[in-house]
Amino acid sequence: MDIKSAKLEVLAGCRAMVDKGLTVGTAGNISMRADAEGVFVITPTSMDYSLLTPDDLVVVDYDGKIVSGKRKPSIEVSMHRLILLNRPDVQAVVHTHSLYATAFASSKEATFLPAFAIEVISYLGGEIAIAEFAPPGSLELAEATVKALGTNAGVLMRNHGAIGVGKTMRDALTAAEILEKSCQIAFFSRIMGGLLDLPAEFVASAKQKSLEKRGVRR
Ligand SMILES: [Zn+2]
Repeated sequence: MDIKSAKLEVLAGCRAMVDKGLTVGTAGNISMRADAEGVFVITPTSMDYSLLTPDDLVVVDYDGKIVSGKRKPSIEVSMHRLILLNRPDVQAVVHTHSLYATAFASSKEATFLPAFAIEVISYLGGEIAIAEFAPPGSLELAEATVKALGTNAGVLMRNHGAIGVGKTMRDALTAAEILEKSCQIAFFSRIMGGLLDLPAEFVASAKQKSLEKRGVRR
């Protein structure tokens, strides 16, 4: 994909993130590889998603150098860069501060999101870890997030939010949406005694199928 197409994907991703209610105001950020040119495109910092044009997006290389763009890149540019560097299968990264995912990741009793439903495994890869807290924009946060993401398509961020990744922008958005809905289900199930585990054998085979479907490479 070239830079022009990657920019259009990022803008479409921003609109979808707002339409799906996965973010409010300027929270969250999105990136997409322009693999034909060895760079990626990322949203700028502190701009209303509904006002963004292709010229507002920032083009960055994998050393973290800004290649073009008149705006400052998102504060989480290092996190997007490290995820893309560590996961060759990932083309798009969607970071949200969606309600239930953030509530879950900020809860005392939540240590991880269990693989309680088929879509948690098939779309996200299995149980979802919560990356340790580090200040927004820090390299520590980028490293903690990459570690907690592993080979999955989603990760939660302690006292902060969530991330969905995928081989297309649509896949990354779907991952962010399924993660949000799964956290919502986790809260509802508390009223009914908590989440039930799936049979271990089923989980193991579904995880393997998910890795193949998502084309995970590291
Ligand atoms: Zn954030």
